[in-house]
Amino acid sequence: MAEPCSFVVAIDGPAGSGKSTVGAEVARRLGALYFDTGVVYRTLALVASERGVSPDDADRLVELARSLSLRVGPPSVADGRLYDVRLDGRDITWAIRTPEIDRLASVVSAHPEVRRALLRIQREIARDGRVVMAGRDIGTVVMPDAPVKIWLHASLEERARRRQRELARRGIVQPLEAIIAELAERDLRDATRAVAPMRPAEDAVIVETDGRSIEDVVESVLAIVRERCECADHGADSSRVATVPSP
Ligand code: C5P
Repeated sequence: MAEPCSFVVAIDGPAGSGKSTVGAEVARRLGALYFDTGVVYRTLALVASERGVSPDDADRLVELARSLSLRVGPPSVADGRLYDVRLDGRDITWAIRTPEIDRLASVVSAHPEVRRALLRIQREIARDGRVVMAGRDIGTVVMPDAPVKIWLHASLEERARRRQRELARRGIVQPLEAIIAELAERDLRDATRAVAPMRPAEDAVIVETDGRSIEDVVESVLAIVRERCECADHGADSSRVATVPSP
């Protein structure tokens, strides 16, 4: 069989735009590696919080970022997770998905030095060659030469409803207004930071997700990938989840 061709699909967008769900499914269908870069910032936020490091202390955050022993791999438990996240062997898959970590991840990620320290990890993963990478700055900073750049758009209300349903599945009940306020605050911080602000790349395709099913959005993204990467479907039967560090 011919070697599967290499490509990077960059999927960016605000919190709750469906990046993880859509990205993971697109990767599965293409037999590509899926990597959600938010995991890296979330893990750093968790470690900082557990060690009592202030989210404003850039120097100490950089030290922590450099020593992160993070592993992302195939799911070991069937509890709705898309992948396992382990820190020094400890399963932190859900510990990094709390409202507190949502906020802290956005604060720690605003430091330029922290972003620089975490860039290398992200680019190393993309070296795998056949990757779907989700985040805020993949198309603009992490992989500016990616042949496919997607920006997933969804209204604030729709994103808040999705987030509310997702939290409820894990037994976390939050009023819609609180979620709307939290998302708006996070969007503002992510979009106005000095380095790598969240925004669509100039050559990104904007995909509207409001009122559309996941399947429908996945199909739209796949159509864009197939149009730009002729060999996208080669080797599409070997779905993988990112392993960090790369094997
Ligand atoms: O995507 P997710 O909600 O998991 O990301 C958590 C936070 O990590 C974001 O609000 C953002 O501040 C930061 N992030 C980032 N750049 C990325 C991915 C995530 O700044 N590529």
